[in-house]
Amino acid sequence: MADGAHKHRVAIIGGGFGGLAAIEGLKGSDVDITIVDRRNHHLFQPLLYQVATTSLSPSEIAWPIRMLVKHRPEVTTVLGNVIGIDKAAQLIELDDGARIPFDSLIIATGARHGYFGHDDWEPFAPGLKTLEDATAMRRRLLVAFETAERETDPDKRRTLLTFAIIGAGPTGVELAGAVIELARITLRNEFRSIHPEQARVILIEAGPRVLASFRESLSVYARTALERLGVEVHLGQAVTEVTADTVTYGDQVLHANTIIWAAGVQASPAARWLGAEADRAGRIKVNPDLTVPGSPNIYAIGDTVSVPGLNGKPVPGIGDAAKQGGKHAARAIRARRAGLPVPAFRYRHLGDIATIGRSAAVIDFGSVQLTGWVGWWAWGLAHIYFLIGLKNRVSVALSWMWIYLSGHRSARLITWGEAGSDKQP
Ligand SMILES: Cc1cc2nc3c(=O)[nH]c(=O)nc-3n(C[C@H](O)[C@H](O)[C@H](O)COP(=O)(O)OP(=O)(O)OC[C@H]3O[C@@H](n4cnc5c(N)ncnc54)[C@H](O)[C@@H]3O)c2cc1C
Repeated sequence: MADGAHKHRVAIIGGGFGGLAAIEGLKGSDVDITIVDRRNHHLFQPLLYQVATTSLSPSEIAWPIRMLVKHRPEVTTVLGNVIGIDKAAQLIELDDGARIPFDSLIIATGARHGYFGHDDWEPFAPGLKTLEDATAMRRRLLVAFETAERETDPDKRRTLLTFAIIGAGPTGVELAGAVIELARITLRNEFRSIHPEQARVILIEAGPRVLASFRESLSVYARTALERLGVEVHLGQAVTEVTADTVTYGDQVLHANTIIWAAGVQASPAARWLGAEADRAGRIKVNPDLTVPGSPNIYAIGDTVSVPGLNGKPVPGIGDAAKQGGKHAARAIRARRAGLPVPAFRYRHLGDIATIGRSAAVIDFGSVQLTGWVGWWAWGLAHIYFLIGLKNRVSVALSWMWIYLSGHRSARLITWGEAGSDKQP
């Protein structure tokens, strides 16, 4: 045994993109690995908006972590909610009182949406991060149309058919395109009192352009494509108030029954668990090699850290950065155990990608940029490639093909919160 009576124990908190990449990177390294996650599944978050907008079902974009590591006997999966880390005793603390020992630790607990100090807005303007968020958003969207169908007051009906999306990054843009297509294409002709295609979708952004992380020409393209679909894009106006059915931005008060938050992120509380320095979004300020300052055996990766990348620009909170961080942490653990120096993390940005409805996308791979349906197919192929399992790849490809050809979305189910509830809209 490498370390006394037991093999070197690597604990990983979080089975997202970063955590799974670390497990992959540790293959064959003669360590025992424990992966702890409070959910039993790995979630492909880039396609969450498609669950929220009825294109895909939850099981098409999520997989049990236990199943993903079943051929790795050295990996133990624990379903548990981490609430602390005892650095001195090298223990992870779970909320049920259990303790998990480690020799090396990788923290990959991600982030949630953040409300810039206005947490009271969350119940009115929920964000999208988990499968529960997505199915709740799907319910809100579909119930708005159902309620509007029975509403006789024209003002209330207008409010029910107004959908506000706050934040025009990739998630906001993708949601806006999908919601307008749901209204204008999928639901058309299905209602008798309302015309779903008259629904308004308003995308509100504080900055001067949509998709601010993309080059300007692609932002302009995306805005035009959204407007062509019927989305109203309001730029340069920060939201100052959100209530159950209003959004205030600039000098406007918009009445909207469904308000979606796609504007900010807040890191997991891992910095607090460690007593580590964090940035304004709560991300741990890690060392260049991704270790937590003062703890050479603790790595933190992905959305829960802040680390400078190329040209001093922070590494973005995207899936590929988390994966690269996971691979780096695995390499670093191997190197340290072999007595070799651990190099700094070098992030390589492969590109930016976002879709606008079912037939346009913008792709920025530096020297290559794609837009329109060519971009959409490239986006679609890339996402299908990154899904796990042949069945899901085939099923998602067929769903997209069907939506593309017919406009119909197969996951248009309103599911209520609790088993046994027999509520009606
Ligand atoms: C709606 C949406 C769309 C996105 N679209 C894109 C995209 O198109 N392209 C792209 O590259 N990126 C996209 N991203 C970002 C990308 O998904 C994240 O950057 C990536 O998931 C970060 O990986 P991670 O491993 O750091 O965290 P995550 O993948 O979020 O994983 C964190 C894991 O930690 C677990 N966890 C958290 N807290 C605890 C705890 N206390 N105890 C136990 N377990 C815990 C969670 O359950 C989760 O499984 C999107 C994100 C969202 C929300």
